[in-house]
Amino acid sequence: MSICPHCGGNACYEQQVSEEVTTSFCFGCGYTTSTLMTQGGDLVQKALGASPELYKDLMFVDENSKVWFPAIVTLPKKGMVFLDGTSKDSWRWASALAVEISEEEKAKFSKDQTHKMDMKSISHFEKEDFMEALYAIKFFDVEVVESE
Ligand SMILES: [Zn+2]
Repeated sequence: MSICPHCGGNACYEQQVSEEVTTSFCFGCGYTTSTLMTQGGDLVQKALGASPELYKDLMFVDENSKVWFPAIVTLPKKGMVFLDGTSKDSWRWASALAVEISEEEKAKFSKDQTHKMDMKSISHFEKEDFMEALYAIKFFDVEVVESE
């Protein structure tokens, strides 16, 4: 864990995914970046083109010109955490739980999909409570489940 340049907390998790690429994910503020996300770089331009306005407004550039965005966390069988809001000053984290797709609904989904996000199960969390939102979808239990 290292210091997050965005929130100053010490819960920034860095992971080397290849020789050149390291990703950073802050459990404190929910922001994420990688060594490929440099200001003015192709990936950032692409992300900006595809992102809702709110993400653009919340973008953060650190002192090394790395560009950070709020994370969207998706665990297909558990749930997801995403940003929900209308403007830079008015947003919260939201979590939704995954539910099994019922027999009647199966036709509407692809064959290998077993779960869907239940938007009725949305809970909201304050900006500083990103971790709470992760707990809500049992994010930290994932490895246990996968090794079963
Ligand atoms: Zn942070």
